[in-house]
Amino acid sequence: MKIRSVETLRLIRAHTLPAPLPNAPGAGARVVGVPFPIHKYPEFGRTPATTPGEVSGEMWVRVTAENGEWGLGHTHWGDYAAPLVDKFFGPLLVGRDCFAIELLNDLMWRSAQRFGATGVASLARSAIDLALWDLKGKVLAQPVYRLLGGPCRSTLDCYVTAGNLEWARELGFKAFKMRNSAHYDDGIEGINRLEEQVAKARELVGPDADLMLNPVMSFNVEYAIRVMERLRPYRLRWVEEPLMPYDTEGLVRLKQAVPTLPIATGEDHHGRHAFRELVERRCADVLQPDIRWAGGLSEVMKIYTIAEAAGIATIPHGGGGMPAGQHFAAATAESTLVEYVLRSPPGVSLQDANRIPGMPVPRDGKLVVSDAPGFGMEFLPEDFAPWSV
Ligand SMILES: [Mg+2]
Repeated sequence: MKIRSVETLRLIRAHTLPAPLPNAPGAGARVVGVPFPIHKYPEFGRTPATTPGEVSGEMWVRVTAENGEWGLGHTHWGDYAAPLVDKFFGPLLVGRDCFAIELLNDLMWRSAQRFGATGVASLARSAIDLALWDLKGKVLAQPVYRLLGGPCRSTLDCYVTAGNLEWARELGFKAFKMRNSAHYDDGIEGINRLEEQVAKARELVGPDADLMLNPVMSFNVEYAIRVMERLRPYRLRWVEEPLMPYDTEGLVRLKQAVPTLPIATGEDHHGRHAFRELVERRCADVLQPDIRWAGGLSEVMKIYTIAEAAGIATIPHGGGGMPAGQHFAAATAESTLVEYVLRSPPGVSLQDANRIPGMPVPRDGKLVVSDAPGFGMEFLPEDFAPWSV
């Protein structure tokens, strides 16, 4: 069956609009004060609104087959990714077999090499790839995890990423990732502050719960070593994305310096080759590609296979909060945890804050994957408007 159209869209219906911003007072995830690499320059305040490059612009892609069936995928930074879908990848794919997902990905991957197949092109390709998987599942009346060879499990164990760990505990989560407050330019004051926060968090979640720390690229090698040494008594399950992506040598140095504290990374790496290098250099213990950014589900399955062969787990970034991440975890033997980014403020249930109709949410830290066709999303065509108007 042939592809009739590839469209870029934005969500417009009230019931599908974003849940309260995670940085709203008392909310779960992003808190004021979390540094990104750009905060080397104090002119940029540490809030999402004052951070150039902060996650923004959720863009959806709808791929429609010649029989009228359609599939949906999404990514971010839509202002930059949409022109690539509209002007380049879309025209390349229209008229081709919508089931030939491997071929369609290879066409996108190869054709983008001369201007950069990672970065924005990877975002655009991810959204298209996800729409193709959703479409295939809907046409074949099968959930995507079945198309991938699953299920390996139907109930997923979640860890929560939250600014408010008390609220996360109340919701029944039993594994926790906390936000980082220190940029390497904060020096010893940053380390002291961070230790205080980690100590408090460890006390709150108890001695046996998984507790992780998420610096989001805000350390350099020397600072990361100092922080990791200082935090050793708190037995973190992992430190996540301590350095900017592609600083593989830096990660190698970190592993040598602090071999007992696992490193997770990957949400800002794109494409299988970047992950192959992490695996080959043995400088990451957990791989965290974002399925909406790293090249889509097809690419993340390849990343998974590379990691699985090396005995390394792939736990996609934010996977529990997106249908593709849930289906990926259901279909892969060695992805035994999923990340759920808490976006509901205290008192608002996860279901009430859920912005994707039909997508299951965790209950007591566990999530039962949908067995509806495709990704199981229950959007209506009128939930969307064209991205560019
Ligand atoms: Mg992260």
